[in-house]
Amino acid sequence: MKILLHTLGLILLMNCGSTQMVQTPSQGGEQSVTVNPAKSDEDSFTNSERIGDIMKYLASDDLKGRDSGSEGIEMAAKYIENYFKSYQVKPYFDSYRDTITNYKEPSYNIVGIVEGSDPDLKNEYIVIGAHYDHIGTIAPENGDYIANGANDNASGTTSVMEMARYFGTHKTNKRSLIFALFTAEEKGLLGSEHLAKKLHEQNLNLYTMLNFEMIGVPLQGKDYFVYITGYNRSNLAEISNGYADEELVGFLPTAKEYNLYQRSDNYAFHKEFGVPSHTFCTFDFTNFGHYHKVGDEVDLMDFDHMATLVNKVLPVLEGIANASTQEIQLK
Ligand SMILES: [Zn+2]
Repeated sequence: MKILLHTLGLILLMNCGSTQMVQTPSQGGEQSVTVNPAKSDEDSFTNSERIGDIMKYLASDDLKGRDSGSEGIEMAAKYIENYFKSYQVKPYFDSYRDTITNYKEPSYNIVGIVEGSDPDLKNEYIVIGAHYDHIGTIAPENGDYIANGANDNASGTTSVMEMARYFGTHKTNKRSLIFALFTAEEKGLLGSEHLAKKLHEQNLNLYTMLNFEMIGVPLQGKDYFVYITGYNRSNLAEISNGYADEELVGFLPTAKEYNLYQRSDNYAFHKEFGVPSHTFCTFDFTNFGHYHKVGDEVDLMDFDHMATLVNKVLPVLEGIANASTQEIQLK
């Protein structure tokens, strides 16, 4: 998320915050991805262990902060592709890779699809996305120069990968679901702008775009679990809370104040398609003090919270994907 740093600086001042189960691409060649068998009880699809496995890889020092065009983000790209492949999420284009044309370095969005099962509704599309890039290496602090980007945005990437795994293995969606991991968000929303433009030119029948950003730590003292940007622009919160059967999605005044609606990848789809496009987030400027710093490390992330968010959002996505009409409407 691109937030005006001086604003953030002000706010912070004010508030004064192993090798892994997955075979990594650096071992070369095609590998099938196996993740710890989920010890999920009936109603929770993912759990903190699964979330932790993915997060520990994406936010590891090996990936050097996943800067666009870097070797580190290339490792992340391969990892996501293998993940999609392993859970029957098909490439949206000829391959999973969508090469962006608006950045100086070769960079790729990773785009997969789980086609809808209904003969009519499958021609309506929902984009579920998150940016998987971060800012790479920065000025060292106590010798640490890697901005690991655990919260920003390995957390959103991990949640979208787990949602893709759910629908890839369950196929419970009537509308078609496009899972998009964007590159070059930190360079100015370049990856999502490229993809939104391309899909628009291809006349994609987009219903809504749901983006996930900085969901690594829980909100404190709120009567809802996650907020959406652009809360007043559509009835998404209402519809989501209906399917969640609780006050899952709420309104964060600061998000409006700082116009976060325009600062993440939902905005590119808003601009191109003019459909309901929102970002889900649990970062509220008070609960995390390492934005764009070397301290944005995986051990500060709350895997239980992230697993709970995914497990609570899945029935919402299912409801939205299967409703007979497009309930989410712009206001
Ligand atoms: Zn971000």
